[in-house]
Amino acid sequence: MNIILLGPPGAGKGTQAQILVDERGMIQLSTGDMLREARTSGTEMGKRVAAIMDAGELVTDEIVIGLIREKLQGDAGGGFIFDGFPRTLPQADALAALLEEVGQKLDAVVEMRVNDDVLVERVVNRGLEAAAAGKPVRADDNAESMKTRLMEYYKKTSPLIGYYYAKGDLKSVDGLGTIDEVKDRIAGALPA
Ligand code: AMP
Repeated sequence: MNIILLGPPGAGKGTQAQILVDERGMIQLSTGDMLREARTSGTEMGKRVAAIMDAGELVTDEIVIGLIREKLQGDAGGGFIFDGFPRTLPQADALAALLEEVGQKLDAVVEMRVNDDVLVERVVNRGLEAAAAGKPVRADDNAESMKTRLMEYYKKTSPLIGYYYAKGDLKSVDGLGTIDEVKDRIAGALPA
């Protein structure tokens, strides 16, 4: 089973993806994690995207499509969870083509709905909590970058909701509640 977790920054995509990895042996493909890794290891591409990410803007389609293409060549394990990809219509079209190339298909797109006030609060708190615990703080987990991230989401990513609805792939779940509650809702939305 291959699925997309779709939703604004702070909706809980990463948390739920991790649960699907632990409980179902699926493979999480988070372009955000891949880009952060590229920065840490100091690759040319990592350096190029750093300022864009910190500002909360989207990096180019070409870069993230390239990252996903590489991962799809590998073992499909218990299926792929696309987390934070696709974020634009060209990325969605590219994903469909890439999946076809490797003989895979998309089984569901799960939209996680959370209201905007909660999103900003969650993301700003994630930054503060990481700082308080002495953990690395994401440079984009602050109120200023979050404004840009939300704007990017509404301008470029939210059209994917209609796109996948029209394809018949969309399932929407309420993303508000405990981690376990949301987990159960996602489980209910996935094909048996
Ligand atoms: P995330 O960890 O998913 O919140 O992503 C962090 C940042 O990485 C985003 O704000 C973008 O700058 C960049 N990014 C991650 N995934 C994508 C994508 N699919 N398309 C463009 N930029 C992305």
